[in-house]
Amino acid sequence: MDPDSDLIRIRSSKSREVLLNPGALAAAIRQANLSPGRETGGVLLGRFTGDKSVPIIYKCLPSTSDCQHSRASFSRGTRGLATLLRREFVRGYQYIGEWHTHPDGPSQPSCRDHLTMARIARSACYQIADPLLMILSGSEARGWKAAVRRYNKMGVTDRFAEIEASAALLEHEL
Ligand SMILES: [Zn+2]
Repeated sequence: MDPDSDLIRIRSSKSREVLLNPGALAAAIRQANLSPGRETGGVLLGRFTGDKSVPIIYKCLPSTSDCQHSRASFSRGTRGLATLLRREFVRGYQYIGEWHTHPDGPSQPSCRDHLTMARIARSACYQIADPLLMILSGSEARGWKAAVRRYNKMGVTDRFAEIEASAALLEHEL
């Protein structure tokens, strides 16, 4: 069986695609529900398809214990992350971006989000020229929407269609 057959397929207006593992989305929503009214997030891990054009989000890693978050801001920490990433890299995953929540907030990234992602695209440390940002907006009561964008060092290159996370998970029987 094709291991990628159960992935959620999200398209951009430019007909580009990103694939999202429903298990990763479910993990992010669980973490989002545990942090009502305060942003939370972490690293996105995944792979690219054979021709490198389509990113596949396989994992939304949990927040680190040194992250700083408030109602409308989030700074991902680094504690324990290097060890965790080394383990995941051995399994064949690579760093592909960041995710965080906007509880009861907009699905659009903030100015600071845009700057952070462009900085990551420019940085030699991350070794990715076109990182992804996934924002979960909403709440447990209202439901969460997932919005993915792809960046380069200048800013957003692709806006993917927003998806209703709970409905997408129901469709994928999670
Ligand atoms: Zn944000």
